[in-house]
Amino acid sequence: MATKKEAKASAKEQILQLFEQARLNEKNAQKHIKNAIRIALKNRIRLSKELKKTFCANCNTLFHHGKNSLLRVRKNYITIHCKTCQQNTRIAT
Ligand SMILES: [Zn+2]
Repeated sequence: MATKKEAKASAKEQILQLFEQARLNEKNAQKHIKNAIRIALKNRIRLSKELKKTFCANCNTLFHHGKNSLLRVRKNYITIHCKTCQQNTRIAT
């Protein structure tokens, strides 16, 4: 049986792979991201800031800045506006 550490490491790998698939396959991007979030929750893994910036937390759409989202940079945080669900996400920098 895999130890907790090993399980976490393989889950992290899976998540990165799912994000890459989402990037390559825009049609199923939402599905892949949903799966990645599910794995992260199950294994209690926090998604890195870099990953959080790449998708909408509300509707799981992969961002293409300028195309389906607007990115604003403020002093202490950045704001991402999702054009699909009109949601603003704030991420501290
Ligand atoms: Zn959205």
